[in-house]
Amino acid sequence: MTVNVGVIGTGNIGQDHINRLTTAVSGSAVAAVTDIDAVRAKEVAERIGARAMSTGQEVISDPAVDAVLVTSWGPTHEEYVLGAIAAGKPVFCEKPLATTAEACLRILDAEIAFGRRLVQVGYMRRYDAGYRAIKQTLSAGGIGPALMVHCAHRNPTVSVGHYSSDMAITDTAVHEIDVLRWLLDEEFAAARVVKPKRSSIAPTDLIDPQIVLLETVSGVHVDVEIYVNCRFGYDIRCEVVGETGTVSLNDASPVSVRAAGTAAVAIPGDWQTRFRAAYDTEIQEWIDGVALGVASGPSAWDGYAAAVTSDACLAAQSSGDRVTVTLADKPDFYATA
Ligand code: NAP
Repeated sequence: MTVNVGVIGTGNIGQDHINRLTTAVSGSAVAAVTDIDAVRAKEVAERIGARAMSTGQEVISDPAVDAVLVTSWGPTHEEYVLGAIAAGKPVFCEKPLATTAEACLRILDAEIAFGRRLVQVGYMRRYDAGYRAIKQTLSAGGIGPALMVHCAHRNPTVSVGHYSSDMAITDTAVHEIDVLRWLLDEEFAAARVVKPKRSSIAPTDLIDPQIVLLETVSGVHVDVEIYVNCRFGYDIRCEVVGETGTVSLNDASPVSVRAAGTAAVAIPGDWQTRFRAAYDTEIQEWIDGVALGVASGPSAWDGYAAAVTSDACLAAQSSGDRVTVTLADKPDFYATA
């Protein structure tokens, strides 16, 4: 069976996923695309032999579209995800699920009312081989119960004028928030944000670096260094300290080179390179699930929990206080999600 996907938003990640769906992933095709920029949508559609449509709702209601991929601007996500649920179509929504916790709850309510999981949120780190190996080690009891996690999320640079201090939480740390909830299999209870000495090479209006400190419900402490002007590469680190051992991500390079008195590994230049294989696996598993009628991966609940935790981090960033993460009761519908 071929799953025919309708794509809403043909910007950076939209085109990236379209390439994936039409080349790397098996069992999928792109039937229709749309973008607020109609010229861009037409160009993309012509390149892949799909139809360009005028609106997202047209894509969703097209009978030739089996499943919907939402890669438009964040504030539009709620409308398109709700539209896909109303049409009874599986929908993969790039993060964020929606831009407010209240909007995420409206999506949860709609999905529960529909009666079956349709929504997957694009948190791709859960599909990275390194994070999956950490999860396996923790589940097998290889290092005992987790006590602490040390993480770093370093970007070489960010676009001046487009990236703001709060995006260090909503666009950057949110990936750690999701993957750590999944790795530790529990929710966060509180957040703080510490602002170390500012980097002199960061844009003047940007707080960089920042350290996000999270506590889980059971008391595991997590520190996430966010430094988005490190210059040397895209460097993602994660070390879980358990009672009897530690487990860490290795360097992303497949080889190390020893020469001229030095041992060296290459560091990826950007997130697209670092997580390419994870994105491929994420979209392949989504397509496989759609073909089988089985939903998996980050759920609407995960999208909601990430939004609430991010909001607590933002409040902590501006107040300097320890802020409690207050989630709604988890509906039974998402008990296994
Ligand atoms: P982008 O390049 O700006 O692409 C967004 C596209 O959506 C643009 O072409 C935009 O058009 C279009 N658009 C805006 N409103 C629309 C609407 N109402 N209907 C249809 N199209 C609309 O942004 P991006 O970097 O691809 O990011 C898109 C989403 O993916 C964001 O939510 C982002 O957070 C997420 N993302 C996730 C990851 C990840 O690692 N999981 C990575 C990158 C991005 P205009 O340019 O004309 O506004």
